[in-house]
Amino acid sequence: MVAHKGTESINNEDKHDVLKSTQTIIRQALDKLGYSEEVYELLKEPLRMMTVKIPVRMDDGKTKVFTGYRAQHNDAVGPTKGGIRFHPNVSEREVKALSIWMSLKCGIVNLPYGGGKGGIVCDPRTMSFRELEALSRGYVRAISQIVGPTKDIPAPDVFTNSQIMAWMMDEYSRIDEFNSPGFITGKPIVLGGSHGRDSATAKGVTICIHEAAKRSGIKLEGARVVVQGFGNAGGFLAKFMHDEGAKVIGISDAYGALHDPDGLDIDYLLDRRDSFGTVTNLFNNAISNKDLLELDCDILVPAAIENQITEENAHNIKAKIVVEAANGPTTLEATKILTERGILLVPDVLASAGGVTVSYFEWVQNNQGYYWTEEEVEERLEKIMVQAFDNVYTTAKTRRVDMRLAAYMVGVRKMAEASQFRGWV
Ligand code: GLU
Repeated sequence: MVAHKGTESINNEDKHDVLKSTQTIIRQALDKLGYSEEVYELLKEPLRMMTVKIPVRMDDGKTKVFTGYRAQHNDAVGPTKGGIRFHPNVSEREVKALSIWMSLKCGIVNLPYGGGKGGIVCDPRTMSFRELEALSRGYVRAISQIVGPTKDIPAPDVFTNSQIMAWMMDEYSRIDEFNSPGFITGKPIVLGGSHGRDSATAKGVTICIHEAAKRSGIKLEGARVVVQGFGNAGGFLAKFMHDEGAKVIGISDAYGALHDPDGLDIDYLLDRRDSFGTVTNLFNNAISNKDLLELDCDILVPAAIENQITEENAHNIKAKIVVEAANGPTTLEATKILTERGILLVPDVLASAGGVTVSYFEWVQNNQGYYWTEEEVEERLEKIMVQAFDNVYTTAKTRRVDMRLAAYMVGVRKMAEASQFRGWV
C-alpha cells in the first residue's frame, strides 16, 4: 500500500458554484422538455430557505454560536426530504443546490417527495459527543416549525449518522409531545430505522455500476475500481465491490489516498477507519486525492464531496465508467470533457438515489408501524434503481443528450407537472 497527505478544499463561492451549475442544467432540461421560463423561475431556487443560529455551551464552559440552514426546494409532489450535513464548508448556496438535487433524485426514483436539505457550519471531528448532541438538539428546536413527518423529513448526510438522527428524533418528539419516528430517517433500527438504510446509498451505486458495466461490456469480476471517500457511501461501496470480485486498487479519505495495483485489503481498512472514514493517516505511504482520481482503472467512484473532477483533471481520468456516489463531484465543464472522451458518466442524482429510496421505505414503515425484512428492502430497492437507470439511459440515447442532462430531464418532469396542476405556474 502507498499513501501521502494533502488536505482537500472545497470552492463553493467561486467558479465551481454548485448552485449556478445546477441552475444551468435545470434550465437546459426544462428547455428540452418544452417548459416555459416561468417554470424555470419557480424551480431555480428553493421555495423556502431558513437560516438559524444555534448557541451551544461547549465543554470549556463558553458558548459558541453555530449557523445552520434548512432549504425546502419544492413541495408540489409531496413533503420535502433530504439529509443534514455537518461540515465546515457548508454554505447557503451549497445547501440550496443540495436541496434541488434531492428534488431531482426523488423525481428520478419516483418517490412522493420534493427535495430538502440542511446543513450546519461546524467540524464534528473536533467536537465531543456531548457538544454534538447539544448542537443536534439545538438545530431541531430552531427548525421545528417547518419540519415534520408530513412537511419535511431530514436524514443523514456528510458527517452525520444514526446517533445524530436519534437525538434529533428525540428532540422533535419532545417538542411534538408525541413519539414521531417518521420525522427523520436513517435512525438506529431499535428506534424505527429500516434494515438496509445504512448501506442503501452504496447498494444503489452498486446497482448502477452493474447496469453501466453491462452496457459498456465490462465484467465486474476482476475490474479495477477506485473509490474516492471512505465514509458511509465509499466504505460500503468498496466492501461490496471487493465482495463481488472486483479489485479495489484505490481508496481515499479527506487527508490522502491509498493505492495498491494488486488490490487493497478492504476488510482490514474498514476495520481500522474511524467514525469519519479516516484511515490513510495510519500509513506513511499515501498518495494524494488528486493522484487517486487519475489512476489507471476501469471504474471510478467519487464518493466524497463536490468539485473533485474539474476541467483541470478531466482529461487525465483513465476510468471507462465514472459513477458519482457523492453529490456534485464533477463540474459542468468536466462532464462535457468526460462525455466527449466516451467515458460513461452515471450522474449523482441517479447513482446516489438509493439512500433516499430506502429513507422513503423507512418513512413508509414508520407510518404503517409494520416493518420489512432486509430482503424485502433490497428487492424493492433493486427494482426501483434498475428502472431508474434504464429510464435515464434510454432518455440519454433517444434525446441524444449526456447522462446528466437526461437525469435532470427525468427528475424535473414530475415536479414541473405537479406545480402546474397546483396552479403555481
Ligand atoms: N443525504 C442523502 C442524499 O443526499 C440521503 C437523503 C435522505 O435519505 O433523505 O441523498
